[in-house]
Amino acid sequence: MNSDKLQQWLQDSNNDIAYISNPITISYFTGYSMDPHERIFALLAFKDAEPFIFCPALNVEEAKNSEWNGDVFGYLDSENPWRLIADNVRKRTNDTHSWAIEKTDLSVSHYQLLRSEFPSASFTNDVSPFIERLRLYKTPEEIKKLQGAGAEADFAFKIGFDAIKTGATERSIAGQIDYQLKIQKGVMHESFETIVQAGKNAANPHLGPTMNTVQPNELVLFDLGTMHDGYASDSSRTVAYGEPSAKQREIYEVDREAQQAAIEAAKPGITAEELDSVARDIITKAGYGEYFIHRLGHGIGKNVHEYPSIVQGNDLVLEEGMCFSIEPGIYIPGFAGVRIEDCGVVTKDGFKTFTHTDKDLKVLPLKD
Ligand code: MN
Repeated sequence: MNSDKLQQWLQDSNNDIAYISNPITISYFTGYSMDPHERIFALLAFKDAEPFIFCPALNVEEAKNSEWNGDVFGYLDSENPWRLIADNVRKRTNDTHSWAIEKTDLSVSHYQLLRSEFPSASFTNDVSPFIERLRLYKTPEEIKKLQGAGAEADFAFKIGFDAIKTGATERSIAGQIDYQLKIQKGVMHESFETIVQAGKNAANPHLGPTMNTVQPNELVLFDLGTMHDGYASDSSRTVAYGEPSAKQREIYEVDREAQQAAIEAAKPGITAEELDSVARDIITKAGYGEYFIHRLGHGIGKNVHEYPSIVQGNDLVLEEGMCFSIEPGIYIPGFAGVRIEDCGVVTKDGFKTFTHTDKDLKVLPLKD
């Protein structure tokens, strides 16, 4: 169990207790997760005692039947969860002085309620950086799940390309993708809301999908992904609906060259910011630097965005097992947007992508 690593960290960092509140982190350490909504879901780990999961009573059976084989304690809606957490902690250990919390996750109100049960304890230590580092290196099992999620994204592109026709709304195309993912692939959740953008809408990288309709001779941008066994995919493709103009083709080819160069450069030893520059320099030299308005990429795993960030200012040296996106984009307001994105893993033989949908500019025939 990954929770052993958390206990080791507590010993090394000389903290007594870790309070893990992010459901995805809990899933990483225990194999069990759920969405608690406003209720309390936590993993408590100890320097010198066995960890336990604390959750609403209605989830106790499910947690006990999961991969997790440690204790599970539940609470009823009528009970005070913080008092029960404190009681269970004190049954486990007398060392309750130094707590580590996930500062990137724990809400101020939960922090205050937890703290009120241990008024003389210190809650200043942050376990988040340790978790980010640990999750940076993916195991072969994790990579298999990321590849599975990538295959679903490739399937989704096919559905999306087929659904394009004159007058189709971006939302209807996105809806067909989500529907077919659910009925043909059994996908429970997308990793984020499926993005379909036609024409000038694609110049706003995170807009939509809207009720805007696809028209002939526009570029159409797709950005989509699924959750597969708890791991995310995230991929973008841009296609031409009808013959593209010279300028549309040009921005596509520049972006494609930038993406390909970055994929080839993503090897152990290059830094995150150097990799960003590989793509950015190509786009800048072609005269479109001011239209590449985001970082080259982001880590991927259980979260669709996690470490490492492939961005200027990040001198992290990339190593085998790190997984991230390579997604240069060119967004020209009022005209069009292009983004080509694959996630993959750094190996000693280079970057292996999780998605494989072809990247030659696809020109779709006009359909009524
Ligand atoms: Mn992405």
